[in-house]
Amino acid sequence: MIIAANWKMNPDLETAGTLASRLASISFDNVKRVLFAPHPYIIPMSIRLAQSDIILGGQDCHADESGAHTGDVSALMLNDSGAKMVLVGHSERRSDHGEDDALVMAKSNAGLANDLDVMICVGETRLEREAGNAETVVIDQLDGSIPKDMDPARLIVAYEPVWAIGTGLVPSLEDIASMHEKISVWLASAFPASGDNHVPVLYGGSVKPGNAAEILSLPAVDGALVGGASLDADGFEAICQAASNIA
Ligand code: PEP
Repeated sequence: MIIAANWKMNPDLETAGTLASRLASISFDNVKRVLFAPHPYIIPMSIRLAQSDIILGGQDCHADESGAHTGDVSALMLNDSGAKMVLVGHSERRSDHGEDDALVMAKSNAGLANDLDVMICVGETRLEREAGNAETVVIDQLDGSIPKDMDPARLIVAYEPVWAIGTGLVPSLEDIASMHEKISVWLASAFPASGDNHVPVLYGGSVKPGNAAEILSLPAVDGALVGGASLDADGFEAICQAASNIA
């Protein structure tokens, strides 16, 4: 089980430090935890998490190694700052910054070239689901965003229906299970040589302590990407405990 916290553009540095120290003070059997921190906090959080098993990641990176890209952060910089992973293709990047699949793939390659594992997000909008196109949209995103020649051991996929992120809305368990199954089948055919090394597929979108156990119990769900609820130490620990109980 993998439980990943996406802090997004939260919180202030003092609160972040307290939260990270609290998370670092415990561990959960059979649960790998990931923290996607805001870029300016990567170095201070790497110090806070140094003695813990929590993997630190950046929330985005530029596709280029360096250059005239004011305000951007490269994968090299993330690695130099202590990150081991990068999140790419989050729907807030796709919508707020107009990022398309080709750019997500380029960013993934930049992460891999700089020794970062990559977590690639995919997910349909509400309109796309209502039109019956959720599966096609997600498979197209997988096809367009995941580098074909990458080592699948360095990949995690997060299925995040856009309409479920930060809204309190969650798809039915049947819909989550069905999409995860389709993603897993697609991954197995895209990376046939991976054999038993199954690429983890996380669910994201309004995961809370109250719904974590039922979502994480679904057979093709290997963990969760948690936004809002990851800013509350008690809530995030409850989700990790639910994962540990199931793992
Ligand atoms: C996210 O930002 O990836 C996310 C899943 O957010 P939330 O848990 O708040 O819906």
